Parts: sequence; structure tokens; C-alpha cells
Amino acid sequence: MRLILLGPPGAGKGTQASSIVEKYNIPHISTGDIFRKNIKEGTELGKKAKEYMDKGLLVPDELVVAIVEDRLKEDDCKNGFLLDGFPRTVNQAKSLDKVLEKMNVSLNKVLNIKVDKEILVNRAVGRRICKECGRAYHIEFNPPKESGKCDVCGGQLYQRSDDKEETVAKRIEVYLKETAPLIDYYNNKGILVDINGEQDIKKVFEDIVLALGSEK
Ligand SMILES: [Zn+2]
Repeated sequence: MRLILLGPPGAGKGTQASSIVEKYNIPHISTGDIFRKNIKEGTELGKKAKEYMDKGLLVPDELVVAIVEDRLKEDDCKNGFLLDGFPRTVNQAKSLDKVLEKMNVSLNKVLNIKVDKEILVNRAVGRRICKECGRAYHIEFNPPKESGKCDVCGGQLYQRSDDKEETVAKRIEVYLKETAPLIDYYNNKGILVDINGEQDIKKVFEDIVLALGSEK
């Protein structure tokens, strides 16, 4: 099962990724994680990537693709993989196609978790974090027993500056604008599946399993 997972920030991608890799016994390949690993282990690719990042520059596509390619050639990817955070652009998607072609494999599906922008904003602005232990709450969906106080440690709850309405709205707009061409690209290939991410997380996962059906 070779999959790509797309979805805006706050759509619950992390939760779904965990369920998918467990059910299909494939590794979760998050580009952020493999970048950090390469840098930590001081690999050649990691060193090159770090040079760009230290300068505050974007890591060029060729390097991103090379790092992903390396990872996909590891043993645990024999039965497939779930890519998360890559590709981000049509250019990267085309490079990924070439990498997979060389490996004589192809993508099964691209899962696109869709959630209305307003709902995403609401989910984010209601989020509260404990200052002491970092536990997350939501004033509407998962409120603490006592307002403003952590159930576990009694610490004070606060709203991260990242979760302020304007910041969240901006982040989602940027994501939607950036990924629209990518979504078209996979749609044209006939492998894109839209998943309604506005439902209960269990139902979202059921829909994913249904969409994957008899894929192997
Ligand atoms: Zn706490």
C-alpha cells in the first residue's frame, strides 16, 4: 500500500496517519522526521540540507527528493509507505513519480482530508494548552473540568499565539493555495480520494479504509 496523505493543518492528519500505518503495517514517512534524522546522524544529505536551513533558505527540491528516495529504499518500505508532508509541489510530485518508476512501483492512492476552513479555525481557536504539563484541551470539544485549569496537574491553561484566529486563517489559506495544483495533479491521474474530515475521527478512518478497499 503506497499512499500520500494530504490535509490542511488541524484536519486531524496525525491521528489518521497513526491508524493507517497500524492497520496496513506500513511506515509513516514524515519529511520533517526524516530531515531531522539525517541532520542528527550527520549523513551527507543531512549536512547539505542543514547548510540551507542554517541560512534560512528553503531546501531545494533535488535534495528533498534525494532524502525521500533514500528513505523509500529502506527495507521497511517493501510493503508500502504513507508519505506525509511530501510532495508539496507538482514539481516534487513529478520527481516522486520518477523515483517510484525506477523502483518499479506506483502510488495506490492520495488521501485528501477535507475540512471546511471555518471549522478548522474554530477547532484551533478553542485549543488550550497546560502551561505546566503541555496537555491539550478544547473549550468546546474537550473542556477541562474546571475552566482554565488542567485536570491532571492543576496548571493554568493558555492559548498558543499560533492558535489565534488570524494566524490560523492565514496558515490555512497558504496551505490551500499551495496544494491546489498538487490536488489537481493527482486528480488528473485518477488516484485522488477526498475524505470528509469533518466527521468523528473514527468515521473518518472508516471512510479511509473503505476508500482503500481491496488495494494492496
Ligand atoms: Zn497540566
